Amino acid sequence: MLTKYPPSLNHIDLAGSRGRVLELLRMGQAGTRAELANFTGLSRGAISFIVSDLTQAGFLRMEPGDAAGRGRPGERLYLNPQARLVLGIEIGEARASAVIADLHAHPLRSATAATSGPGGRQAVEAAIRAAQQVMAEGAGQPLLGAGVAVPGVVDADGAVLMAPDLGWHDVPVAAPLRAALGGLPVEVANRAKAAAVGEHWSGAGRGVERMLYLSVGTGVSLGIIIGGNLYRGASLTEGELGHTTVEPDGPLCPCGNRGCLQTLASGPALLALVRQLARSAPDSRLWPLTGRRLETLTLVHVAQALRDGDPVAATAVQTVGRYLGVATANLINLLNPELVVLGGPVCREMPELGEPVRLEVRKRALGLAVDACRIVPSALAGNAPLVGSAALLLHGLLTGTVKQSVPA
Ligand SMILES: [Zn+2]
Repeated sequence: MLTKYPPSLNHIDLAGSRGRVLELLRMGQAGTRAELANFTGLSRGAISFIVSDLTQAGFLRMEPGDAAGRGRPGERLYLNPQARLVLGIEIGEARASAVIADLHAHPLRSATAATSGPGGRQAVEAAIRAAQQVMAEGAGQPLLGAGVAVPGVVDADGAVLMAPDLGWHDVPVAAPLRAALGGLPVEVANRAKAAAVGEHWSGAGRGVERMLYLSVGTGVSLGIIIGGNLYRGASLTEGELGHTTVEPDGPLCPCGNRGCLQTLASGPALLALVRQLARSAPDSRLWPLTGRRLETLTLVHVAQALRDGDPVAATAVQTVGRYLGVATANLINLLNPELVVLGGPVCREMPELGEPVRLEVRKRALGLAVDACRIVPSALAGNAPLVGSAALLLHGLLTGTVKQSVPA
């Protein structure tokens, strides 16, 4: 790793007022010392001190102001996005991916490593390999730490408490990664929550104060941003939308409850419904698309059939979209967000789901809440968890919820 700046400035504390200033510049909400003073409520003197500190440490660059404007010409300040870098890591069942990202959480390069077995510990080992590979691919500016997106419920120590779909229990993630990164801070979150932070930081939710990110995949989970921050529940199980009841006497869910949303509206639920409907529809496009082997059915087949005008695929997507719409209407009534982002593999493969969701929301949610809320597809698509994991770490450093490592 290069050390371009004086060692003390490599570890400049980015939280507090410095974090506010960096955030205003990153968002383009302020560009001069006067604007920074206005937005933060700090004195011009305090702002000048912070700006000088951040400039010396390489975070800011300046351009002459417009002398033709009113008042004193103010130098324009800009964030230098590559002053420091962060790692974003996504851990999945079969592989782990890592990116080196800049201060906008924009990925600069990436690496992937396959897992050597089905367990969570093997997945973490793959993440360490991917991280080491992407770090070795070229010297860069100093690294601030890593954010990690994982499946399942994460505890306060950054371990996966449980990921029932994968059979993972008590898998330490933050601790082994921190050790592999020489003690740099590591922040871990569930994939949907990381993706929510990513969309908020640099995707569809940029500048939005209250937003929801709905991830539809093997399960259905929710990232909740309130006041620009990721909402965290008392025992960190917030956002388990897939286990809210939508049919009191519906199918049994592995969680023990009946009629959970994800038994009716997830990737596996959609595929099961399509198979069931296709069995009594011999003319369905799904038969030729799967080589008459419905057991090989994937989301790609369903999306193709939908675009070919297949009634089975259309009915299934309508049904699943309706359940997602009911759940979304309830969320909109409850939280009155400005934005709902539809993400995850199912929504990515089938953007057509957006229509039944919007229709159901218009039918069921309160008019004032519906009028205030846009429902949009993810802007970061498959990159949302990776960008989000990098943003998670950056957001934590700027707001002080993640502590910077202090040099030995
Ligand atoms: Zn359940």
